[in-house]
Amino acid sequence: MIKLNQLWNNVLIEVQSKVSTLAYDVYISNLEPVGVYNDTFILLAQTPALKRLVNENYKELLKLATSTIFPTITDVKVLLEKELADIEKIEKEVDVPVSKENFLDSIEQTTFVENYTFDNFIVGKSNQHAAAVCKAVAEAPGGKYNPLFIHSGVGLGKTHLLHAIGNYVKKHHPEKKTIYTTSEKFTNELIEAVRAGAKDPDATKKFRNKYRSVDLLMIDDIQFLANTEVTLEEFFHTFNDLYMANKQLVICSDRPPKEINIEERLRTRFAMGVISSINPPDFETRIAILQKKAINFHAQVSMDVLRIIADRCKTNVREMEGLLNRIISQAMLVGGDYNDMSVVWQALEDYGDNQKEILSIDKIVEATCEYFRITKEMMVSKKKNKEIAFPRQIAMYLARELLPIPLESIGDYFGGRHHTTIMYARDIISEQIKTNSNTAAQVKDIKDKILKR
Ligand code: ADP
Ligand code: MG
Repeated sequence: MIKLNQLWNNVLIEVQSKVSTLAYDVYISNLEPVGVYNDTFILLAQTPALKRLVNENYKELLKLATSTIFPTITDVKVLLEKELADIEKIEKEVDVPVSKENFLDSIEQTTFVENYTFDNFIVGKSNQHAAAVCKAVAEAPGGKYNPLFIHSGVGLGKTHLLHAIGNYVKKHHPEKKTIYTTSEKFTNELIEAVRAGAKDPDATKKFRNKYRSVDLLMIDDIQFLANTEVTLEEFFHTFNDLYMANKQLVICSDRPPKEINIEERLRTRFAMGVISSINPPDFETRIAILQKKAINFHAQVSMDVLRIIADRCKTNVREMEGLLNRIISQAMLVGGDYNDMSVVWQALEDYGDNQKEILSIDKIVEATCEYFRITKEMMVSKKKNKEIAFPRQIAMYLARELLPIPLESIGDYFGGRHHTTIMYARDIISEQIKTNSNTAAQVKDIKDKILKR
């Protein structure tokens, strides 16, 4: 018997290398395995659109991948929740033969996330120290930065950097044995070994050998190391053995060593080498990260959209990436364009209520008024002199460009003007942006102000 998840993970690994990252993230990985019935592997899609897209584009690939690893499974079906009614239970385990050479039992040798490389890691003020020491460690494990301790809030790149070290070492020092693990996994394995030790005296020895024979040990999220005597004792000895043998240790945590609730002798050891922290990235770095992610997605996302995203997520890169994903997948699902503001705003709306500051027409008008040093009253008045009419047209243009609201609403805001006035303003300003570099610069400055707040 193999676990359904194991089956699915094997298929995913097989498929992953054959589709674009975007297709993988947006379509394939959103399917859920249900079970194997009559030699057919059933997958669940949450929406009809996903079902259709997968059926049209990826079904043959899924079929091939599945049958390569599980020769008796000859078909794949994607179903919706309501179509599952006939299938009585969701299976946790399935009984199918596997092709030995293709099946990965447990993914024991550490596999590093392919995209988590130094090349894909954008360096800015907030993370340059951490990136530099990680690179130095990857180039010369067991050198002068040992142990290396990195801490930061969530979603700021710690795990990415650990995998980057792993990928680098694997490529440049393939002879070095490297393990990446989380403190939870370490704890679980240890507990498992201790339990098995009752029957098999070699079990704990195997565990020890595994961890104490490496050249580079990376442990992620050390704050979750079980605070029990056995675990701490075992970890302490692993740490010491490796350290004494000049093997490299890299440890990550969501807080600095002195704040970790763990016995003192370990805390002081964590702090024995180099400690580096990562801070939330500044606006420019966030934009650069988004550009990199968009390129990896083969998506040409406009600067306006990137700025809106960067403006929304200031303290967590994972969240920011999630928002980019959401916008692109939203566009794909509705068959729209991810640079279309109405798609963007729809995705943002779904994204959540914790977004205090939604870009509003007020914000646009305020920024424009400030820029041209006029008041809001003047802006929405009937005055037609150029000093006011021009900024007004720019504000109308920006409202049209950046907000998903109807022309009529914009007209209402500007003192009850007809929607054709808004269209006229938009046309005239877009024309001027093309022909007059002065106007282009002004519009850009105001946009910067609006989107950077
Ligand atoms: P942490 O482990 O600190 O919680 P992760 O390493 O999981 O954070 O990072 C979350 C996501 O943000 C990952 O997809 C990672 O690739 C991305 N990320 C974070 N910082 C950067 C950066 N400087 N450049 C590129 N991607 C980044
Ligand atoms: Mg992490």
